[in-house]
Amino acid sequence: MPGRVLVVDDVLPNIKLLEAKLMSEYFDVRTATNGPDALEIIRSDTPDIVLLDVMMPGIDGFEVCKRIRSNPATAHLPVVMVTALSDPSDRVRGLEAGADDFLTKPVDDTALFARVRSLLRLKVMVDEWLLREQTSAHFGVLDTAVSGLTVDFRAGRILLIEDNPIDAANTQNILRRDDNVVFVCADPEEARQIAVEKDIELIVCSLNLDGEDALRLLSQFRTTEKTRQIPVLMTGEVDQIDKLSKALDLGANDYIMKPLDKNELAARSRTQIRRRRFQDRLRESYERSLSMALIDSLTGLYNRRYLETYLKGLMDNAVERRKPLALLMLDIDHFKIVNDTHGHLFGDKVLKAVAEALINSLRSVDMIARIGGEEFVVVMPDTTEEFGEAVAERLRRRVSETSVPIGETGESVSVNISIGLTMRTGADKTVEDLMKRADKALYGAKNAGRNRVVSDIPVSD
Ligand code: GH3
Ligand code: MG
Ligand code: MG
Repeated sequence: MPGRVLVVDDVLPNIKLLEAKLMSEYFDVRTATNGPDALEIIRSDTPDIVLLDVMMPGIDGFEVCKRIRSNPATAHLPVVMVTALSDPSDRVRGLEAGADDFLTKPVDDTALFARVRSLLRLKVMVDEWLLREQTSAHFGVLDTAVSGLTVDFRAGRILLIEDNPIDAANTQNILRRDDNVVFVCADPEEARQIAVEKDIELIVCSLNLDGEDALRLLSQFRTTEKTRQIPVLMTGEVDQIDKLSKALDLGANDYIMKPLDKNELAARSRTQIRRRRFQDRLRESYERSLSMALIDSLTGLYNRRYLETYLKGLMDNAVERRKPLALLMLDIDHFKIVNDTHGHLFGDKVLKAVAEALINSLRSVDMIARIGGEEFVVVMPDTTEEFGEAVAERLRRRVSETSVPIGETGESVSVNISIGLTMRTGADKTVEDLMKRADKALYGAKNAGRNRVVSDIPVSD
């Protein structure tokens, strides 16, 4: 899954070295030798990941990283700081500035590729959510601007899997900061159970579990539906880099070496918790805005907005345009009388019953929307006039056979519908053209006495 990598370093040989390594793995590499150029390339070229040198004249790597994070358009771009410094406080400063990771020079190949891939995988997912978010924004409902840094990282729920008692106590102390709740356990079976049941937001797992393969446990987390999305931070010894990068390939999100630096562990766990919450929020807001924007809450059918976008897609698609398309416009007859006689609430019940009768009489490829009070539209792709008429007649009959009981009285009400049918023609340019004709046909059905199907199909084509 190679992607586009931007390498930023003020020393040319450093750039050449990383460029050569990345190109040998088929990554598409861009380069910049200073902060301002890097920010410009990020703006114009939208790389998938940035490898960022810390020490640069002018604005340094920390500052570049902060600017990437504070711009909503780039806030989600993965940033890896690359530095000759090995002082943990610099690592922490980088993570606080919003970097996702750190690599020290000379850069170890295994660590480089494993981390770049792991971050790219994450980015693919976040991009997907952002895209959907934009689609819902396009439908006009978007409640909050989502930015990774505005998500709180406090009071996280962390599972620590560590069977060395001293390490366990140590690690737990560090993780307890930020009001986190920490569950500690040494037994893999118990760990799996806690991960599934306790709403865990981060798993910190030792690579060295006595008598147990931590990598197997990790891959179980990744293949279990309920734990698949929980970030995993592995801890291991300095000489275990190969095993740690294997863990990244298996889906671990990050790793940290023992002895644990408390600031680094705190910062890395914050990053993971923040990211996890950010993803959750994206997903929730996507689901909420999607349903608010596109679904009619009374009947659960699509609404007019969805219908129009969907139809426009069908009209614009050249392949679809060559197939016959039937469109029905339906309206309940004398519905006002139902409301006036039995009340609006009962009217709503009838509307729901009609919607249900309609949806149960359609194929899954057909699309039905409620576009107004007691008006519905059915779109039938790849459907001939003859078939369309048969379906319309079936819908009319099914609705007339549906009755809604009035409380416990033993009596019930049934309604009829009138239907206008039309076919899309080559001359139809917009959704409007098609809808207008169906509406005209519906008007014809009402005038001819209601409870019937009337077609209006242009002869040209
Ligand atoms: P026609 O056969 O000509 O269609 O007569 P009609 O009475 O069905 O048509 P009209 O457009 O005059 O009235 C539609 C009625 O539908 C008016 C309104 O009270 C009712 N209505 C619209 N939306 C809703 C709704 O969400 N719930 C309920 N209960 N009634 C609704
Ligand atoms: Mg009506
Ligand atoms: Mg009406």
